[in-house]
Amino acid sequence: MTSSLPVSFYKNNVFMLAERFFIQDESTTLKLHAHKYNFDIIFFSQIDPFIKAIASANDDDLFVVDLDVLHDLHAVKDKRNMFLQDLLKPLPDNRQYVYLETAKQGSRYLLQKMLLDTNCMAYAEKPFSSEDLVDNLFNLFAQRKRDDQGKILFHGTSVWLDESMLVEHNISLIRHDDYQTLHTQVKFSLPDVVVIDSESYKNAESIAEIIQKNIAADPSLEIVMLQTSNDNALSERGVKAGFDVVMMHQTNQITTAQLINRINKIRTNKNLISRDRATGLLNKVGYKKRAQERIYEADKAKTALAVVIFDIDKFKTINDTWGHHFGDVVIKRLSMYLGQFLEDKYLLSRFGGEEFVMLFWNADHDAVMRSLNDIREGFNQIEFEIAPGEIKRFSISGGVAFYPKHKTENALFLHADEALYRAKTGGRNQICE
Ligand code: GH3
Ligand code: MG
Ligand code: MG
Repeated sequence: MTSSLPVSFYKNNVFMLAERFFIQDESTTLKLHAHKYNFDIIFFSQIDPFIKAIASANDDDLFVVDLDVLHDLHAVKDKRNMFLQDLLKPLPDNRQYVYLETAKQGSRYLLQKMLLDTNCMAYAEKPFSSEDLVDNLFNLFAQRKRDDQGKILFHGTSVWLDESMLVEHNISLIRHDDYQTLHTQVKFSLPDVVVIDSESYKNAESIAEIIQKNIAADPSLEIVMLQTSNDNALSERGVKAGFDVVMMHQTNQITTAQLINRINKIRTNKNLISRDRATGLLNKVGYKKRAQERIYEADKAKTALAVVIFDIDKFKTINDTWGHHFGDVVIKRLSMYLGQFLEDKYLLSRFGGEEFVMLFWNADHDAVMRSLNDIREGFNQIEFEIAPGEIKRFSISGGVAFYPKHKTENALFLHADEALYRAKTGGRNQICE
């Protein structure tokens, strides 16, 4: 049972140059795991075709080189032994590589250094299970996908951060001078890190606790004290009063670089918990946070928003009739289809099962209703080949709610859900508001 899928069914590719035993023998299992995470693995056993493939790959793709491929290459090129250099040298410089090595190779410092000098993105020691390898590769995709802006909220006057470095890493800097309203600013601007210099801290020793004790506080938020001169007593008080880190300020560049490292880690972790692994879309956690940000922005920009919940009609029947795996294919297909309609400041998330939530920015009522009906009809046109020559089409229903008519993320969702219920009870394959 297949469906007529577009060529790029999976969002990303891993190009893997690997030895026959273990890796290539496991290729079917590896591919199956990878598909669950929405990427594909393409295997190579020779250097030349691997390098050719790298040249035409996308920037988001990953490249994996198993050092043990040398054994297989020896067998082919029996005239001359190949060395690690022969493997690493031809790898194009404009890409980064994930190296697979044995524990013995991994224990050799000079070998590790040689890998680092050859555009090493990460290395992994064998043996590992197929699940683990795929899981780690997925994490690398997530790490590089820094689509959201990082944010620093800065309170202080004695230190300047290097703003061009921040811009380069897609991190915005919000300065806030009034310590009495700093915790309110945290609530609105949702920073990754709050930085307070030690001079300002002296006026506001309770600030970290006030920020953290808010029941809705972001648990991954870090509060950093920046010390401009060595003061052990002050550091001690700060750490006791809820500061996560005391950072010694040396130069603007060093402080900025350290903050960037911290924020990148925080963002990677946030990304992992805010995305649905099968489709790569936002999950409920990720959506809710971003939707709150959008509402805040919409309030400032005096613009309207629309929130729609889409749900596949009679999906249980799809699962029961053609199997759970085919059900998964329909879900992925819908996620890719909806992704085409994303524009700047829109959101798209998989809320679970076969339910998707989409947020439209600058939403004119009639235009949104027309788009939603076009989207609904478009999905209904997609042909799924459930058996050779046998085509089926499926439908979705949707419920929509508008901001500012409904003010909060929760109110928008509840009203959209009620509207979805009416669409279902009213016969399905329709959009209600
Ligand atoms: P309705 O038209 O009223 O929406 O009917 P429905 O059958 O689609 O009902 P509902 O939306 O409640 O069905 C959701 C089903 O989706 C139930 C669950 O077994 C199935 N499901 C949830 N997550 C997944 C998944 O990841 N893959 C597959 N294949 N099925 C899933
Ligand atoms: Mg359904
Ligand atoms: Mg449902």
